[in-house]
Amino acid sequence: MPARIKILEEVLAHYSSPMTLNYPSSVDPNKKYSAIPEGLRGVPERDEEKCIGCEACARVCTGMATKIFDNESEAKRLVQIFLFRCTFCQHCVDECPTEALKMSKKFEVATGSRDDPANYVDTTLDLLRCANCGHTFYPKKYVDKANELLLQKINPLVKDVVVADFKKVQDYCPSCRRAFAYKYDTHTKKHVWLEGP
Ligand code: SF4
Ligand code: SF4
Repeated sequence: MPARIKILEEVLAHYSSPMTLNYPSSVDPNKKYSAIPEGLRGVPERDEEKCIGCEACARVCTGMATKIFDNESEAKRLVQIFLFRCTFCQHCVDECPTEALKMSKKFEVATGSRDDPANYVDTTLDLLRCANCGHTFYPKKYVDKANELLLQKINPLVKDVVVADFKKVQDYCPSCRRAFAYKYDTHTKKHVWLEGP
């Protein structure tokens, strides 16, 4: 075959099929990459079991990607990362007190629309409802974890008093606890007195 015709055939072959692929719709989801660099910070992932809904990740988020949404009527808290805003800085991972977050190796984050669930990292938790005023306050898992840590670290001199006081007010939100502090003799200043100088 003459060289000119061969060249012409190759040129035509290039124009007969697309030179580029639509992204991300044409990407093979099973595609393997041979060289993901060590230490790559990909999409943050959250272990739902470990998350206590404490808000620490939202407070340090550099991209304002992590937000907390409380649903008063359903008594639910949503902890959400919106990946469009994530800068993959890892601050949330470093601050999480329960090690619920980690930076994965997933780096392909493009989706076809903003509303695609793949753009969000969601965890939903139950909120406690105040037995006095009826408003929701902290997630139950957060209160349980705080109590666990408190009992581990508390001065043994005041431990029994604090535990007894907590039982009296555990069903109330912080505002109602303050309001009832003198009625139930649970004012925290008495612990300072008990602990001594
Ligand atoms: S436990 Fe970790 S992931 Fe859950 S809200 Fe707190 S900081 Fe965020
Ligand atoms: S990696 Fe950074 S920007 Fe992304 S959710 Fe965590 S703190 Fe926010």
